This record gives sequence, C-alpha cells and structure tokens, in this order.
Amino acid sequence: MSASAVVIVGAGFAGAATAYHLAGTAKGRFKVIVVEREDLPGKHSSGRNAGLILQVVPEAALYRLIADGAAFARSLPGRADWPVPTRFDRNGVLLIGEKEGVVDLERRAGWARNAGIPTEWWTREQVEERVPAIAGSPFDRALFCPDEGVVDISSFLDGYLRAARASGADIRLRCELVGMETAGRRVKAVVVREPGGTESAIPAAVVVNAAGAWASQVGAMAGALPLPLKPTRRHLFSTAPADFVDSRWPFVWDVSRGWYMRPESGGLLLGPCDQDEYQPSIPDTDPGVEDLLAEKLAGCAPRLLDMPIISRWAGLRTLLPDGHFVIGRDPRVRNFIWVAGLGGHGVTASWAVGRLAAGIIMQEDSGAGHPYPAVDPARFAKRGVTA
Ligand SMILES: Cc1cc2nc3c(=O)[nH]c(=O)nc-3n(C[C@H](O)[C@H](O)[C@H](O)COP(=O)(O)OP(=O)(O)OC[C@H]3O[C@@H](n4cnc5c(N)ncnc54)[C@H](O)[C@@H]3O)c2cc1C
Repeated sequence: MSASAVVIVGAGFAGAATAYHLAGTAKGRFKVIVVEREDLPGKHSSGRNAGLILQVVPEAALYRLIADGAAFARSLPGRADWPVPTRFDRNGVLLIGEKEGVVDLERRAGWARNAGIPTEWWTREQVEERVPAIAGSPFDRALFCPDEGVVDISSFLDGYLRAARASGADIRLRCELVGMETAGRRVKAVVVREPGGTESAIPAAVVVNAAGAWASQVGAMAGALPLPLKPTRRHLFSTAPADFVDSRWPFVWDVSRGWYMRPESGGLLLGPCDQDEYQPSIPDTDPGVEDLLAEKLAGCAPRLLDMPIISRWAGLRTLLPDGHFVIGRDPRVRNFIWVAGLGGHGVTASWAVGRLAAGIIMQEDSGAGHPYPAVDPARFAKRGVTA
C-alpha cells in the first residue's frame, strides 16, 4: 500500500473500532483519517443504544465476532492499555420465552454450549426470586447467561477514538464526506466539506464505509455494489427511580413478546423491540410505540406501568436481510471497504469488527477468500440484491 491515507467515514462504533486497530498496526505505512459529519461522535446509533453486551444471539454465524467483541468489552474495567475508565456491569442476561420462543431459547442454548459460553436454565422460582418485578409473567422457560452485561457506551466509544488518536489517527469532526473521485475500479480521493463550507479532496489509498444508516448513500458515491441495507427505528424509554428496583438485576429480554428492561440510574431502561423502516436521520419518537410498550408490560409486568417515563428516544439499527454484517472489500470498487449493517450488535461486536476490517485493509487485494465469509459483501453479488 502506498504511503497515502486510509479514510474512514463515520466515528460510531464501526469507524472508531476500525481506526483503533488500524492506527495501532499501520504506523508509518499510511495515515488514518476519520471524517465525521457531526460535532461529536456517537450522535447516532452508537450513542442511542441499550449498551447490552450479549453473546447468545440468534445469528449463530456471527458468533466468533460477537464472542471476541464481548470478551474485550468485559475486560475494559481496569485495562492498563485502555485510555478511559470504562464501566462494565456484569449482571448477566435473562432470556425468557413462551411457545415458539422456547425453541429460540433452546437453539441459542445449544450453540452457546458448543461455543463454550456459559448458560443456565432457571426455574420460575429462581426467576421470581431474582427479579420480582416480572413475577407472574407468562413464560415457559428462562435462560440465564451469566457472562453478559452492560457497558458504558460513551466511554467505550471515546476510548477507541482516544487510543486511535494516540497512535496517530487524525479524527476530523464536522467534516462531511460529500463526494468521491474514482478511476476505473478504484476511489482516488474523497471530497469533504468542512465548517464554513470549504470543500477539499483528500487523496485516499483506501476508503472505509462506516457510515451506519448512511452506508448505502456513501456506497453510491463510490459506485459500489448496492447492498440491501435497511435502517430501522427502535425506541428506548427510561423511568423515574423506584425503591423496588435493584441495580443488580440482570438485563431481562422476553423473546416471545418482544420487550426488554434493565436497571438504569435507580429506575429502568425499557425497550419494546419495535422495528420500522426509517430514513437515515435522528428519528422522531412515535407516541404509538409508548402505547405498544404499555400493552406488552400490562401482560407481563404490570407493576412497571406505575413507573413514570421520564425520557424517550429512538435510534436506527441498520439491518441486512440475512441478519449478518457487511465487512470487507466491495466486489466492484476494490479499495472501498464496507464496515456496516451492524444491526443490533454493533457495540458488542465492535472490537472484533474493527480487528477484522483492519486485517482486510492491511492485506493485499490478492483475490484470496474472505477470512469470515458470513459477512463478505460479495455474498450479495453472488445471490443478487434483494430487499
Ligand atoms: C435502540 C437501539 C438499541 C441498541 N442496543 C444495542 C445493544 O444493547 N447492544 C449492541 O451491541 N448494539 C445495540 N444497538 C446497535 C448499535 O447501536 C449499532 O449497531 C451501532 O451503534 C452501529 O454503529 P455504526 O458506527 O455502524 O453507526 P453510527 O453510530 O450511526 O455511526 C455512523 C456515523 O457515520 C457518520 N456519517 C454518516 N454519513 C457521513 C458522511 N457523509 N460524512 C461524515 N460522516 C458521516 C454519522 O454522523 C455517524 O456518526 C442498538 C441500536 C439501537 C438503535
């Protein structure tokens, strides 16, 4: 690779973790530049999520990335090589399910066992003793995952960016990618707009698309393969503090009815697991979704309905039809690397996502197979792009 720049578009978890790994290994070979449109990183999905580090997810093919990412997140408190004190509350996750939900839990437990991730089946008595707020809730089985927990997302994201900067990365805020100069199957330069409206071109050896909900737009600027990325909105609600909430409660996720909760600042963070397609933006909140949450709670944990909701917000999860990520070289534009479609796992998997992306960038484009085929963007070139 020539001694030019790798330009990463976006300073959310995808871009920040890629910059962290790349700046650490690329010293002297090329410059790492991160361009972020906002005045602060984490204004979009990376600062608007639930902070859950969950390995026992339905997408078994993502397991290695998710487990490696989760192991790093768990190790953050007290890491000597991490630049910001970062909290990880290892309270575990309790997945509850009824009817088909039980099949889902059994499938997750099966592959978690094969992968060596600890899980325990809990009885109703165990559940109700540990989390009295869901006593009487209709579930048939309960799977407890003791290694899971909640990370402080603000210091986690900040840590990646500080470490990347300490290794020489240039992180440019209020710097928007507005175009690309291409020649043949390569991007030659990115065009950015800075405060005041000045536009300039940055010559680029490689461009990394870590633009979250905007990844399709950035891909189109490069002439890359169109991918079926779908930004979807999800709401979160936080309640006033209440005496009965115990900060040691696990994250509880009802996979059948689709809602979750965890302790937050003496109250609860509640999510109704809504998912509707939405344009790239900071999404509005929909009062109908608060009603949906109330309906779900009425059937499962009516006591929680008495807790006043004191704040509400929504963020975007960008999904692909197979539920996997896209990390790797674009099949058409060979120096354009996708790190997108992280869906609902972008915090958990970030460390491993960044490591995989950095490894691909450091490798010559030899045409050798993808190191992790389940996330190869080329899978959409083979099967055709379907929404
Ligand atoms: C409600 C909710 C709950 C979630 N809960 C969890 C959870 O508990 N655990 C978990 O692991 N994951 C969770 N997620 C998912 C996680 O938040 C995302 O997967 C992750 O944040 C995606 O990171 P990203 O860097 O791809 O995107 P983003 O954070 O959106 O970052 C993309 C960045 O690119 C920038 N950008 C875009 N276009 C341009 C441009 N042209 N020029 C310059 N900059 C540009 C944007 O400004 C943005 O900052 C949740 C998501 C939501 C919405």
